[in-house]
Amino acid sequence: MKIHAIGGYSEFGRNMTGVTVGNETVILDCGVSVDKLATLQGSGEEEVLKLPEPRLISEKVAPDDRQFYKKYGRQVKAIIIGHAHLDHLAGVPVLAGKYKCPVIATPFTLEVLKQLIKKSRPLRNQLVMLNAGSTYKISNTMSVEFVYATHSTLQTVMCVLHTTEGDLIYSVDFKFDESPIIGQKTNYKRLKELGAKGVKALITDSTRVDRDSRTMSESLVREMLKDVLLWIDTKNKAVIVTTFASHIARLTTLVRIAKLMNRIPVLIGRSMYNYVTAAENVGLCKLSREAILVKPRENRRMLKRIESEGRGKFLIITTGHQGEPNAMLVRMADDQMPFTLLPEDIVVFCSEVIPSPVNQANRSVLDKKIKSKGVRIFKDIHMSGHAAREDMREFLKMIRPQHYIPTHGGIIKLSNAIQLAAELGYKLGKDSHLLQDGQELDI
Ligand SMILES: [Zn+2]
Repeated sequence: MKIHAIGGYSEFGRNMTGVTVGNETVILDCGVSVDKLATLQGSGEEEVLKLPEPRLISEKVAPDDRQFYKKYGRQVKAIIIGHAHLDHLAGVPVLAGKYKCPVIATPFTLEVLKQLIKKSRPLRNQLVMLNAGSTYKISNTMSVEFVYATHSTLQTVMCVLHTTEGDLIYSVDFKFDESPIIGQKTNYKRLKELGAKGVKALITDSTRVDRDSRTMSESLVREMLKDVLLWIDTKNKAVIVTTFASHIARLTTLVRIAKLMNRIPVLIGRSMYNYVTAAENVGLCKLSREAILVKPRENRRMLKRIESEGRGKFLIITTGHQGEPNAMLVRMADDQMPFTLLPEDIVVFCSEVIPSPVNQANRSVLDKKIKSKGVRIFKDIHMSGHAAREDMREFLKMIRPQHYIPTHGGIIKLSNAIQLAAELGYKLGKDSHLLQDGQELDI
């Protein structure tokens, strides 16, 4: 078995891994760098994805798969996507076409992909829908099984490759949430069965492996939000909450809290509209019945309505928590929208700043602008979607893979993950492996 580190092993984002058994290869995830996407962004991420493939690779938006493609491109049998976040999915419209194979994902992930394709570039690959708990036969030597896992978007799965050389688990982005707002808990029973049977290799997310803790449940965010929003004096004030558009569970929480506040929830922002529509198309939520889901071309009209009917009547749920240029909150702060932020209005950041220099700079500019208007800020009301160090330790003990390969982070994160594995008896270079983009591992 060969493992090809294509993207996501030298930095956070643009995840892409290849696995070869005999003369057959599959690709796991095909994402973009969300940071770089935002930097290049003019009128929207779909516009950036229309740029030519070589440009997107040289700008480090898409993974650099040129070397891998030359060697293995013709023998790729499937592209498997674990969940609907852009750093795992949005490389598909850019890179997948040249691999003549199907793209396999859960219904929600496929729905998000379809929307992306519709607005960026056409894709000829066959799309194969696979539910958590099901297995798809890729060829005579390989099949893929989806195992349900909790994360910060819907229908996230761990991908289990069953091959003639043993099983490989690819679990890139998950947490262990005991009280998820939507959906079940991670399928521990199946993971334990796989571990007991013997797993050849585990490729896993190292985003939060440097945090000496466990990642707490999303249900605690609900309590934190209630503690803020139901306690402060919001009378006749605008209340704006900004969070991840793909986090449908959190949007659901916010819509319910709006009812407790006697306010009409308004979901506004282009990516908010896209993700909620995708979730509704596959029957996972009905938010547009409980809230006003604003079509992107009606954003201005809706904001005018809020100004004229009274800002105290609505709870505005929107995009822009990373200070991304062109996101709704940023445009409001820049006075580009028909809505004025007034002293003592309230902005709640239901997010953490993703620690990249671009995001940190963008957010600090946004915070300053908002504060200069006399608006009250509540920040860091958030729980991560990524397993922390002690979750990862439990996971490793559950699976006991023969080989451990961390990904999704730069060298410092990966080294930290290798250190954790060492605490459990793994030896670097023997059964734990530190790969960088472009490297190949033979096990
Ligand atoms: Zn994710």
